[in-house]
Amino acid sequence: MAAAIEVKGWCPGILRPMQSGDGLIARVRPWGGAIGLTEAKLLADAAQRFGNGHIDLTRRANLQIRGLGEASLNGLQDVVTTLGLVDRDARTEAVRNIMVAPLAGIDPGEAVDVRPLARALESGLATDPALHDLPSKFGFLVDSGGSVSIAGERADIALRAVGQAIALGLDAQSGTMWIGRTSPDAAVKVALAAARAFLDVRRDRRRLRDLDEQDLVGLRSTLAATLDGIDGDMSATSDRPLGVISLGINRFAVGVAAAFGRLEAHQLRNFATMAEEAGAADIRLAPWRSLYVEARDIVAARQLVESARDIGLIVEDTDPVLRIDACPGAPACRSSSVDTRHDARRFAALVFKGNVHVSGCAKGCARSTPADLVLVGIQGGEQGSYKVIRNGTTRDTPERTIAAEDAGAVFDV
Ligand code: SF4
Repeated sequence: MAAAIEVKGWCPGILRPMQSGDGLIARVRPWGGAIGLTEAKLLADAAQRFGNGHIDLTRRANLQIRGLGEASLNGLQDVVTTLGLVDRDARTEAVRNIMVAPLAGIDPGEAVDVRPLARALESGLATDPALHDLPSKFGFLVDSGGSVSIAGERADIALRAVGQAIALGLDAQSGTMWIGRTSPDAAVKVALAAARAFLDVRRDRRRLRDLDEQDLVGLRSTLAATLDGIDGDMSATSDRPLGVISLGINRFAVGVAAAFGRLEAHQLRNFATMAEEAGAADIRLAPWRSLYVEARDIVAARQLVESARDIGLIVEDTDPVLRIDACPGAPACRSSSVDTRHDARRFAALVFKGNVHVSGCAKGCARSTPADLVLVGIQGGEQGSYKVIRNGTTRDTPERTIAAEDAGAVFDV
């Protein structure tokens, strides 16, 4: 396949990779939020062969293969195409930003198996050329209403099972606003109508939450008129369990995470092999940079957890590394003067309250929501230093600047 290299882009795809400090990066978007075990192993092999073996789990529940060269990109594209993981063109690929509840179809608390709905949404986005004008950061989520919920994540348009209905949520500055509910059969049509309505009023806005208040209110009321009302509490759980997860009587799943979302190719290959031995059919990806699989029984689940720990994956949701979001930083990213992940590992060993965002620059790729403590690498004059921000995002006003080697001092110790 011919390589079409885009040097700068907002969200890299397989067909439109993006240049970074360690080479080209290409994002693989699993269909329906899951990838087959054979596909995962072959993808790991391809990441090793054509890239530098680093694979990122992204906050949109995708896999990102790093360190590709212009000469090796075609090889990766051929493998991904053979595996059926690529869209027909770059524009179709760019809009297929859909997060799916990681235990969809097996979560005992779920109201509806939303996997067919997610696939219908993928298909709807692919087949309507008008929707290919959606900005590449515009995204959707599909939640099953189960115990491991993604409804608290931010996406421009959210579909969430509530009882036997599907609620529609629109992203606003304050978070998701749930504006009404409809039947599972009508949900995709409503979500796509919401996306078209955004295109009608967006001007140069990239996200629904960035619309002018007047446009957002108008869009909400137009859509709400086509929906039934919502009763009850729509607040979302924030459970992100790792390790062995009970799915009810004699059914189990296993969740694992990678530090800062960075998997090595051998870890993905080995985890897929071990998951197969545990009886799993596929690997599901969660937006909190974690992987989930179903296991045959409790013995297989426990064995898988121990094996995952042995290959360096995180299997406990209390692991302090999970409280830190850190982008690749230097040297992988040219926009950074600080080695964010090296520093983040130092910080994880410190005692601190709350969550931390260590960002190589103000773009804040690793986290868009506020964190209790934010360290932002400085580009330009004070290279090798961080701006320190509390209770905010990378774009808020810093309270001070501190050299990277001294940054541990800003933690509560
Ligand atoms: S936040 Fe900045 S330094 Fe970090 S990966 Fe994004 S662009 Fe690079």
